[in-house]
Amino acid sequence: MARKQLRRAEGISRREMLAWLIGLSGLAASGACSLGGLLIFLARRARSFPAQPTETPIPTPDLTPTEPPLPPEVIRRADWGALPPDHTAEQEFGFAGAENPTGWYAYEGDLATIYTTAVIHHSFPLLRDSGTMRALQDIHRNTRRWADIGYHFGIDGAGRVYEGRDIRVRGASVAGYNTGTLGIVLMGNFEVESPSRAQLVALQRLLYWLKQTYRLTHLAGHYEFNPTTACPGANMRPYLNLLAESLALQRGTGGYVPPRAQSQRISGACC
Ligand SMILES: [Zn+2]
Repeated sequence: MARKQLRRAEGISRREMLAWLIGLSGLAASGACSLGGLLIFLARRARSFPAQPTETPIPTPDLTPTEPPLPPEVIRRADWGALPPDHTAEQEFGFAGAENPTGWYAYEGDLATIYTTAVIHHSFPLLRDSGTMRALQDIHRNTRRWADIGYHFGIDGAGRVYEGRDIRVRGASVAGYNTGTLGIVLMGNFEVESPSRAQLVALQRLLYWLKQTYRLTHLAGHYEFNPTTACPGANMRPYLNLLAESLALQRGTGGYVPPRAQSQRISGACC
């Protein structure tokens, strides 16, 4: 099925693709998510990550002071020049509709009880090697008039992982389904190009970390929640199945919990 499509992917030779697929199969066969197996897999394939920034970000005043954990290699907002959220943005509420009538919404309590699903996007129309977090934040803040970049993480063509919207705050990336979903954007228009191997490896690492830390259970493409979009593009879709299989995540939208049931779950009132 997907392997014919995979072979057509740009930037990854057939031999490299085969090695990658064997690696994923090996992971699945050997217990999928054993830390040792994953580390061996990553050590063999991951390209070197840049030196990690050490600067402490400026705390956001309207959030609780306790910082939730972020992946160790993530490039923080201060280091990519993020602008602060604009709390006067008139369309922050609009994108999520009735689900999000009050706009900017910071979750309370343990994020592991809130997040269930990672939703993957591409940065259409920005291309892989020209898309930046600043450019995406500019589109989301200044054109769409949301308070901030909508995604929680971004991954560029070299496999560098960036902090996006504060992970304690509900995202703006999946119309009507933002509660409990983590938005991850890969730089590129994957209708016309393919994700790089470095991006795929970085995404697998990030998903593994998110699963361990926030107990994610599902992986979905944006198009599965909002069928009118092609996001994250035809050239990315085959990898979603491979990534889910390698990490023992379920595919699709089945993990989504509507806000009302979510609040019941958080409060412990749900059956
Ligand atoms: Zn999308």
